[in-house]
Amino acid sequence: MDLLNTPAALRSQCRQWRAQGKSIALVPTMGFLHDGHMSLIDHARGRADRLVVSVFVNPTQFGPNEDLDRYPRDLPRDLALAQAHGADAVFAPEPGAMYQPDHSTWVEVPELAKGLCGASRPIHFRGVCTVVLKLLNLVQPDVAVFGQKDWQQLAILRRMARDLDLDAELVGMPIFREADGLAMSSRNVYLTAEERAKVPAIRQGLLLVRQTLAAGEKDAARLGEIFCEHLAANLPESRPDYVSFVDPESISPVAHISEATLLAVAVCIGKVRLIDNILLEV
Ligand code: AMP
Repeated sequence: MDLLNTPAALRSQCRQWRAQGKSIALVPTMGFLHDGHMSLIDHARGRADRLVVSVFVNPTQFGPNEDLDRYPRDLPRDLALAQAHGADAVFAPEPGAMYQPDHSTWVEVPELAKGLCGASRPIHFRGVCTVVLKLLNLVQPDVAVFGQKDWQQLAILRRMARDLDLDAELVGMPIFREADGLAMSSRNVYLTAEERAKVPAIRQGLLLVRQTLAAGEKDAARLGEIFCEHLAANLPESRPDYVSFVDPESISPVAHISEATLLAVAVCIGKVRLIDNILLEV
């Protein structure tokens, strides 16, 4: 497995593979890999002849008061995991290799980025789109694999790919969870033991909403209250950032659930902000 640190090295390696007729899969990550990432990597491994995993804590998707500096990092461990799961190359550039000091070009999908995480993280998706487009341009993959945990991100990237005629197929993989239901996330290491014991309440709240919908309650506002009540009772030290019912593709708000709807939540607890979601089908 190769460790590549510069865009030029990545481009040249991928160009060589394509010249040999090899198909390429890409899995973009911010590293500190966990089993959720590995489910993407394992899927991608089966989808192409060559597999590139990127490990890049992309500074442009972090706001000024966010956790860029303390975001967990462990490149040696990530390299070992990527290699064990069949990656052919890991791309792990320094920020200075990805962004010129006068970087000035941004990709935005404002309509899909204004709600949910975009409401409290106004520059986040602009940074995500820009870095993912850069990675897609460098690798020119046949397939790029993302997680449905970041559902809004995937919807935005799909819209970007459609609007800009990108060639790669974007694949979304199901949320990979701990045994108690907590969605895996690199940020889970920020949780104290006490918080960690209680946060499965988020997943339980999502499932409670699904059950209540199945029992006939279709009013999104009422279902949102049920989620918040469950959270207040089981994770009283938390504060929901948003509890939103949206169209899964357009991310526009849904008031009455009459077709497939995404319930997406972000919950703040201590220093951590956790996101999760569930697709509600009727
Ligand atoms: P990150 O390193 O957090 O930027 O995530 C890199 C990719 O892994 C993104 O496409 C995420 O949606 C995906 N991912 C992160 N956590 C999970 C999870 N628990 N299950 C499935 N995919 C995930």
